[in-house]
Amino acid sequence: IKKTGILEFVNNELNMEDIGGLENLKRWLRKRNKSWLESAQLYGLPSPKGVLITGVPGCGKSLISKSISEMWQLPLLRLDIGKIFSGIVGSSEENMRKAIQTAEAIAPSILWIDEIEKGFSGINSTGDGGTSSRIFGQFLTWMQEKEKPVFVIATANNISSLPPEMLRKGRFDEIFFVDLPTHRERIDIFRVHLKKRLKAQEVIGEFDISDYNLEYLAELTEGFVGAEIEQVVINGLFEAYYEDRSVRLSDFEKVCKQFIPLSVTQAEQIK
Ligand code: ATP
Repeated sequence: IKKTGILEFVNNELNMEDIGGLENLKRWLRKRNKSWLESAQLYGLPSPKGVLITGVPGCGKSLISKSISEMWQLPLLRLDIGKIFSGIVGSSEENMRKAIQTAEAIAPSILWIDEIEKGFSGINSTGDGGTSSRIFGQFLTWMQEKEKPVFVIATANNISSLPPEMLRKGRFDEIFFVDLPTHRERIDIFRVHLKKRLKAQEVIGEFDISDYNLEYLAELTEGFVGAEIEQVVINGLFEAYYEDRSVRLSDFEKVCKQFIPLSVTQAEQIK
């Protein structure tokens, strides 16, 4: 199943400090851990199922999914739901069964289903008997009945196309919506990326990561997602590289003013 690319181990050392904002989700995750996964029932708690994280692309859904592995010190398996569907009758179910078995064999573990809507969008509640609805039924039954401590993280850009059964209370422990970052969150995201990249800069920077500078950059980036803020940092550093000097606030300022975030492009299209 590894050879087919359906399931892969995700090895990374990402931790919560690499993520700006998303405080509610981080808090929720920090209150839980490996032993909750293994012994929730001893405390009279329902057995853990997982979280569904949805929202705007580029805001850190994948980032936070990867970082749970480091936080809880558990292996993380990424399931490519699109690849489950093999085209050969019966094989898709077999693929799903094997993926589940693998996650259970290494439990306690985390199973990350990225872009879950790719596999399950548009399935109606009665089910049309097609492959996707059978796999969906198989997945829901497993979620409902699973005894092994496998924590599911499902990420989705758009949950409106997901079957309502998946969103019903009791399926996931919690559903989080990740929105465009607020001013405060943009400051945090700038801090994460500037710290990381300025450290690598060999030239002693003139740029200082002061609250004052971060506040200003956050003001210039309303409507930007985390991935776009990272791009602003990279483009700003490139301005300095191009002139073979250390980076200045004015480099980032220039880039911010020229950059048109996707949220603005989309709003223009709707008008
Ligand atoms: P998609 O749905 O398009 O996969 P996503 O919400 O999963 O998007 P990520 O893949 O996590 O977004 O983000 C892309 C990159 O943008 C990250 O690798 C990271 O460098 C940067 N980024 C996004 N959000 C944040 C954040 N909150 N803090 C720090 N960096 C961020």
